[in-house]
Amino acid sequence: MTQTILKLRQTGEPVLRESARALGLDEIRSPEIQRLIGAMRDTLRDAPGVGLAAPQVGFSLQLAIIEDRTEYQQGVPASQLAERDRVPLPFQVIVNPKLSIIDPMTRLFFEGCLSVAGFTALVPRAAKVRVEGLDEKGRALLIEAEGWQARILQHEVDHLQGKLYLDSMLPRSFMTTANYARCWKDKPVCEVCAALGLPETLAQWAIV
Ligand code: ZN
Repeated sequence: MTQTILKLRQTGEPVLRESARALGLDEIRSPEIQRLIGAMRDTLRDAPGVGLAAPQVGFSLQLAIIEDRTEYQQGVPASQLAERDRVPLPFQVIVNPKLSIIDPMTRLFFEGCLSVAGFTALVPRAAKVRVEGLDEKGRALLIEAEGWQARILQHEVDHLQGKLYLDSMLPRSFMTTANYARCWKDKPVCEVCAALGLPETLAQWAIV
């Protein structure tokens, strides 16, 4: 089967700052959207990444996919997976999502984005969220998520509203992925905060 790798739009492209439009039921089931979903999956796996929203490949549509494969987690130390509450997630298509926050206490971790290639930053996210929407067949979808999955969902739903993690990151923590790997990746977040001159209390507070 041939793969379709779409061009990943980078920050500064207007489509990344638009509010994406909702899809109708017939549209979701159309060959065009089904092909787009397949191409987004190929693109996400090629990158690789754990989430991709349609605006990132140039389509201002309320459509996103997430997938966190076991193999992506093999190089990550068990302590880091546990700290992030990160477990493998099956491939999931999310259409027209509405996100609500169940637990507003924040979790603070480094986050990256395929549309801000080469950089990462600490981003506060709500600890637990609910996403209501539709799946790739137009069926009702309800996801309640915590930990890393809650972070991915907040990141992807933001994309559909024209937001990037740059809007909610702690600016002093913004860095290249190379410097992150060289200097910070093995440190607990509270140590990173202290070293970057950020209050350690930032690691836990409520967002409203
Ligand atoms: Zn992103």
